[in-house]
Amino acid sequence: MNRSLRQKPYYIGAHVSASGGVSNAPKNAADIGASGFAFFTKNQRQWEAKPLEESEIESFKKNCETLGFPVESILPHDGYLINLGHPEKEALKKSRQAFIDEMQRCEMLELDRLNFHPGSHLRQMSEKDCLSRIAESINLALQETAHVTAVLENTAGQGSNLGYTFQQLANIMDQIKDPSRIGVCIDTCHAFAAGYDLRTDGSCELVFDEFDKIIGFSNLRGMHLNDAKFPLGEKKDRHQSLGKGELGLSVFKYIMTRDHFRGIPLILETIEPEIWAEEIELLRSLT
Ligand SMILES: [Zn+2]
Ligand SMILES: [Zn+2]
Repeated sequence: MNRSLRQKPYYIGAHVSASGGVSNAPKNAADIGASGFAFFTKNQRQWEAKPLEESEIESFKKNCETLGFPVESILPHDGYLINLGHPEKEALKKSRQAFIDEMQRCEMLELDRLNFHPGSHLRQMSEKDCLSRIAESINLALQETAHVTAVLENTAGQGSNLGYTFQQLANIMDQIKDPSRIGVCIDTCHAFAAGYDLRTDGSCELVFDEFDKIIGFSNLRGMHLNDAKFPLGEKKDRHQSLGKGELGLSVFKYIMTRDHFRGIPLILETIEPEIWAEEIELLRSLT
């Protein structure tokens, strides 16, 4: 591992609320002792959102600066309605427009990455065609923006969601015209649900070696740290608090002691926000 990465901190945080305005997100993160955070730049369950106001953008940037959140510690997530691989023309168009809007909001906030789920074929097209469609959607959004990196999240593989194997993520990445603006975020719960065993140091070593071979740590732009409610390979996207699920704490200790995971947002999406401060403390104690 190179020396510059070793000097980077572990940016540990959670997906915090931005209710009342995006400038509240860094405040909510600071309140739980976080050194990084994730948030939605608009309501995640609605298509429409009013544009970010100039004053709100300014207070967001000011709060990030005064509370000590550098841009590389922040991982915005897009809305839940977007499906960049949608098999139907009109619905695809709507998703693509919404995704471009999300990317532009990140750009206005001077953020450098946007985390999203690849997409679903809804059993109306082949996996291969859907992966290509997703890549085409990303290429279109990259054309409409100047510098935000699109960050693919691995999924649990529930329903017809794609991106549950490293190969599928790599397949999308290979079709992106500007490789400097595509990256990945690995969710530990989703990986486990999809069949990647992360329960011991040894199994973590195997999975992350495979990750490095197929995707590469240089493309890792964030991690979601979640325990899993259901057993290995059940393809169920149900998060659990750290140490209270089927995964256990090994994988989190593994992450907090490897330099590959420095300098990127490490985000809790666990189910008890009231104990996020404790979970952050716990993660810090593992470093
Ligand atoms: Zn997600
Ligand atoms: Zn996640």
